[in-house]
Amino acid sequence: MIYNEIQQEIENKIEKTGEASKWKDWKWQLKNSIRNLETFEHLTGINFNNTERQALKETFQKFPLSITPYYLSLIDQNNYRNDPVFKQAFGGIEELSVLKSEMPDPLSEDKDSPVEGITHRYPDRVLFHVSNMCAMYCRHCTRKRKVGDTDFVPSKEQMLKGIEYIRQNTQVRDVLLSGGDPFMLSDEKIDWLLTELRALSHVEVIRIGTRMPVVLPYRITDKLVSILKKHQPLWINTHFNHPNEITSSAKEALARLADGGFPLGNQSVLLADVNDCPRIMRKLLHKLVQNRVRPYYLYQCDLSEGLSHFRTPIGKGIEIMESLVGHTSGFARPTYVIDAPGGGGKIPVMPNYIISWSTNKVVLRNYEGVITTYKEPDNYDHKMCEHQCEDCTLELNISERDESKAIGIEKLLSDSSDVISLIPENNERLQRRDDSK
Ligand SMILES: *Cc1c(COP(=O)(O)O)cnc(C)c1O
Repeated sequence: MIYNEIQQEIENKIEKTGEASKWKDWKWQLKNSIRNLETFEHLTGINFNNTERQALKETFQKFPLSITPYYLSLIDQNNYRNDPVFKQAFGGIEELSVLKSEMPDPLSEDKDSPVEGITHRYPDRVLFHVSNMCAMYCRHCTRKRKVGDTDFVPSKEQMLKGIEYIRQNTQVRDVLLSGGDPFMLSDEKIDWLLTELRALSHVEVIRIGTRMPVVLPYRITDKLVSILKKHQPLWINTHFNHPNEITSSAKEALARLADGGFPLGNQSVLLADVNDCPRIMRKLLHKLVQNRVRPYYLYQCDLSEGLSHFRTPIGKGIEIMESLVGHTSGFARPTYVIDAPGGGGKIPVMPNYIISWSTNKVVLRNYEGVITTYKEPDNYDHKMCEHQCEDCTLELNISERDESKAIGIEKLLSDSSDVISLIPENNERLQRRDDSK
């Protein structure tokens, strides 16, 4: 039984039914989400003074509040100001200060959108925003610009535009459903959407990004899992940020998904005063793998508006990665990434392990500080690669070979390209050359 005293108290305050508990009914949870300050104070027993109340109301006017009773019950009422769940769910007046370096859409998701709902940034995969709703409004949301602005679920007609785009772009082999939270859609709509996407033969993998296991684990019902199972291969990524979020209810939801046969991943955001500590992070990662969730990304907090109080220096992330490499299992370690402002995509950052290099040796250091050398082969036969796979001695014989061209740094390294440099647009030095002609 996962029903504790605090939960019971909250439920009684919301609704004195005297009947069987509705706590685990996800629709009841959504219907009774906490969306204003008064209800928050009433249910938690936390009270703010008038000045605070005024400032908080102003905050919630700009960035709305919405917390499920379940997630609310995780807040430590006696120490709420330091509580990681409180900080993620409730926020504060810090959100009203917007820095010059911050942007409404720092990742240019709306600019890289060929049709409504689709962000197409990488060659072979797209982000498909299939819902504008979330069970809980994370205060650190990267899409804060959209939070709470008329909650809506796109109609089937609207979704069909995105599906049509994917149908026509056959290089898309991976579709990442996001939002909002895709599990805010009804079971029926999820089934329909996945059926439509599965009908596209070039879509090899579908991924779902959801925070339901964290903020509303009761959404992961047996019925939902049985629907999802019809549409394999499906990967599911969730968003735990702190070990306190891995409750028995969350564990149950994760077990259901893992037993359903879906590989589970987790994306965390590095948040000041929430999880910017190597010990907390390691605890979180260990609890995740214990529950069959593979840590995937650790994000540097984006430059979205009103998030400055959540941001850490990059050095904090590197320090955390340093505390993981070698110290714990490789599969418990996420990739630390900065999502490039302006839409450049995710850039991995790591401590440095290569100390020096000569023509035949590499000097490396390990996590203990031991310095070691790796002797490179004396007679590695560099094979010129002109992408003529038919003539190659490796004889890969890949039937559905993709001959797409190399781009970016890959292109600089490629033998089959004559390009020797990548030059930014409007390079002044080269413009002078043109001018002097
Ligand atoms: C993160 C992201 C993806 C998926 O990237 P992976 O590194 O494959 O997980 C795809 N599109 C956009 C716009 C993204 O932000």
